[in-house]
Amino acid sequence: MILAISISAAVLFLVFALSARWTWWRAPKPGLKALCYHKVGIPPRGSKLKELWVSPEKFRAQVKYLLDNGYSTLLFSDLKKIYESGAQLPEKAVLITFDDGYENNYTQAWPILKELGAKANVFVVFNTMGKVNLWHNPASEPWVNMATREQLKEMQDSGVIEYGSHTMNHPHLSALKLEDAAWEIAESKRQLEAAFGREMCAFAYPYGDGAYAPAIRGKVLEAGYTFDFSFRQGKTAWPWDRKNSTLDRLFIRGGDNNWDLALQLSRGASRL
Ligand SMILES: [Zn+2]
Repeated sequence: MILAISISAAVLFLVFALSARWTWWRAPKPGLKALCYHKVGIPPRGSKLKELWVSPEKFRAQVKYLLDNGYSTLLFSDLKKIYESGAQLPEKAVLITFDDGYENNYTQAWPILKELGAKANVFVVFNTMGKVNLWHNPASEPWVNMATREQLKEMQDSGVIEYGSHTMNHPHLSALKLEDAAWEIAESKRQLEAAFGREMCAFAYPYGDGAYAPAIRGKVLEAGYTFDFSFRQGKTAWPWDRKNSTLDRLFIRGGDNNWDLALQLSRGASRL
């Protein structure tokens, strides 16, 4: 009797613990699935943002999960065609995005994407190409190499990667004078288009900052970007209400497993 009670208590506890960690009990939610990654690799000593590093093994397993489950991976230009034609968003379509433009996107992620046959998009900070992540305080997040212009060009030429803008210098846009924020937004589009000879139709707000400030968002739309991506967890209802909302993303953390990925894709989140 006591044993039966302890077992039931243990099972209840387990269900409770699993429900607190994973959102399997949430209803599936439709909408755009845009994954957000930063760095693929092992976090360097001293990193306080370890969850932004996904190991190459996990990244490979995640891309493989997508392909094994019938997902097609979209480039920004594919999404633009869907958006502009008013076509339905295919249920099994996913956008893989990387923020910032680290060299490990070239050394670690790109070979995996190429090998498995998937595509991805990188939001580039124009002024740090070929340098390091200068916007971080190296005491909390060590500086690592950013991809060079040549590496980015090579990835683009492979047909596997497209680019969007993540500003000139990765500032907190709302901390700048509006005219300076507008310059970060518009100048990066111009410079990236000149550097890569392609339209930059997508923008991501550094730190998600400014995504909900109408004056700043106004500058993003005015600069001619079709898509603007926030730093808010979730899926965006499609057709997209562009006038009133930015696009949300599904943040893949270093500790996530494939069940997290599956829940993020279906529920819009895997954690509370
Ligand atoms: Zn960033």
